[in-house]
Amino acid sequence: MISENILVLFDIDGTLLHPGSGARQSLSQAIHEEIGQQLKIEPGFCAGKTDLLIISSLLEKAGCLVQEIQPLMKSVIKRYLELLETNYNAKNDAYMYEGALELIEALNERPEVFLGLLTGNVEKGARIKLGPFGVNDLLPTGAFGEDGFDRTDLSRVAVNRAEAEYGVQFLPKNISVIGDTVADIKCGKVIDAKSIVVSQHLRNEEELIEANPDFLFTDLVNTENIVHAICDKKS
Ligand SMILES: [Mg+2]
Repeated sequence: MISENILVLFDIDGTLLHPGSGARQSLSQAIHEEIGQQLKIEPGFCAGKTDLLIISSLLEKAGCLVQEIQPLMKSVIKRYLELLETNYNAKNDAYMYEGALELIEALNERPEVFLGLLTGNVEKGARIKLGPFGVNDLLPTGAFGEDGFDRTDLSRVAVNRAEAEYGVQFLPKNISVIGDTVADIKCGKVIDAKSIVVSQHLRNEEELIEANPDFLFTDLVNTENIVHAICDKKS
């Protein structure tokens, strides 16, 4: 029955895991190698943005011309992914947030629940980040950074891909988008899905509340409460 299927779309950074220093360092080095400028990427700058938006904003800030940005983006992403493969978690400083794995496993045990990703990371970057924690197989589909500049463009892509991957359909009220920024809340709202946010990383409760999510949690520790938020009917 179509209405019984539940889709959960997870953001990665700040929601499931903290990527440690390797990710930002890889991006900053890739840009440095491509344009010869050492850019400072402020903490929080990347939150809620897609990789395409992050890189184009940084290149623009560095003074690159509009016509230079498109070809440069391709080479920056290529180099970033090469560096990420080596640097990610090299210092053992990437970690999954407490409760994240338990939540994924609890949801995976429910036959009516299907899981996917809705992340600003390009897919290869997403897979590298999740790899050490063994959850790529549990999150086999999704929308990724290469699917658009604006994060909200990714929501419909994620649902369409999940429907194709799992061979089932999802009603908007049975879809949950889980993230850590206002942009994630918007991703839920544009497809009329439930928006669930967690403030463990950015401690940004105030701005999250202002964006009116369906549920706000301070962390992912209480698996049962979050599973209820996802699986109970949207009122
Ligand atoms: Mg995030």
